Amino acid sequence: MSQALIIVGAGHAGGRAALTLREEGYTGRLILIGDEAHLPYERPSLSKGVLQGSTDLAGCSLCDNARLAALGIEHIAGNPVSRLDTQQHRLQLADGQWLTYTGLLLATGGRARRLPEAQAPVLYLRTHDEALALRDRLRSGTRVVVIGGGFIGLEVAATARGLGCEVTLLEAGPRLAGRVLPAPISAALLALHREQGVDVRLNVAVECIHADAVQLVDGQRLPCDLVVAGIGMQPNIELAAAAGLEVGQGIRVDAQLRTSAADIYAAGDVCEFRLAGVYQRQETWRNAEAQGRHAALNLLGRALPFETLPGFWSDQYDWGLQTVGVMTARTVSRALPGAGLLLFYLDADARLQGACGWAPGNAAARDIKLCERLIAAGTVLNPGSLADADVSLKPLLRG
Ligand SMILES: Cc1cc2nc3c(=O)[nH]c(=O)nc-3n(C[C@H](O)[C@H](O)[C@H](O)COP(=O)(O)OP(=O)(O)OC[C@H]3O[C@@H](n4cnc5c(N)ncnc54)[C@H](O)[C@@H]3O)c2cc1C
Repeated sequence: MSQALIIVGAGHAGGRAALTLREEGYTGRLILIGDEAHLPYERPSLSKGVLQGSTDLAGCSLCDNARLAALGIEHIAGNPVSRLDTQQHRLQLADGQWLTYTGLLLATGGRARRLPEAQAPVLYLRTHDEALALRDRLRSGTRVVVIGGGFIGLEVAATARGLGCEVTLLEAGPRLAGRVLPAPISAALLALHREQGVDVRLNVAVECIHADAVQLVDGQRLPCDLVVAGIGMQPNIELAAAAGLEVGQGIRVDAQLRTSAADIYAAGDVCEFRLAGVYQRQETWRNAEAQGRHAALNLLGRALPFETLPGFWSDQYDWGLQTVGVMTARTVSRALPGAGLLLFYLDADARLQGACGWAPGNAAARDIKLCERLIAAGTVLNPGSLADADVSLKPLLRG
């Protein structure tokens, strides 16, 4: 047994935390424990470049083995933590070994939610290994049914179309990505996917899945070669819950990302924190990056409150979606060239609170960066100028 700072979950948040601890001068023992066989990696490319075959695991990794060794980060791979003893400040690995910690970060992320009604193999996409298994099956002409019109389902559908598959996408709700996107952007997504040849069906329910078809509740049978489900993420809270830590939809933390145990923090997709007074989890790259860094600082005793501006992106075909901040009721819409759209969310004083952009290439990313600066500046804005595509956003920063 030896004492150390330990990070459970060698994904994005966990990997970022480990690197930050060294950057911030922590010189003690540092152990990063993962259940996957890989170096810490970022997941966004899994549904894009990795699935297309244009990016490999090295291209998504946060660091290589040489860097981990140089930084003295002990990476234990393929050996999950099976038990956490918060009284004794120690944890047990699947191979039976016990490790004692002086501070602990839980960054256990989540796994793809499974379909209860599947009677035949269904593929899911959360890990690199799952991406490779899916990539092997996405051949030109393959008939793919994608279940779920959220981001994973939509990105898989777009990539599969790019690879020449015939794609049907099933969404239970009335619009695509309806939980997180405003209606006009959902409509634009729907139009693009249909234009690209995806047979998108809304308001449909799956009865059961056979080896060669998906049966819908309304009696329709959709013959297919492959079924992929993107129906959400199940946070990996079991370890924390069994240890008696407070959990809700994720591992609950206070403003400093500290769990109900004083020497244990949580970060990333598994972390349930208060944002605008409401407990929530954020399943985004931006959050994993920010909370991984932040938890590392607080493991070093900085006691900093976590403040964040949420945001995420998605790439589908050659279009990009970007969001930042929060969506309020007061919306101003700007039409962008090429059928793109930029939505601004204002408070009662016409200060920007959030924005959502959908445009070809990386045009939305550029606009959303400026919106982020407008939010930070707290400038009172003229809704007429925001709506006018001929008015550049940059000068608005001057108020
Ligand atoms: C296919 C895909 C595409 C995405 N695209 C985008 C995008 O375009 N834009 C965006 O903003 N976000 C995107 N995301 C979301 C983003 O990748 C996640 O929010 C981010 O990976 C969360 O990081 P994390 O470290 O919290 O969790 P993870 O990266 O999932 O890491 C958690 C790790 O902990 C491991 N673990 C769990 N339990 C244990 C245990 N007991 N012991 C040891 N290890 C354990 C897990 O196996 C995993 O390796 C995407 C996600 C996926 C899956």
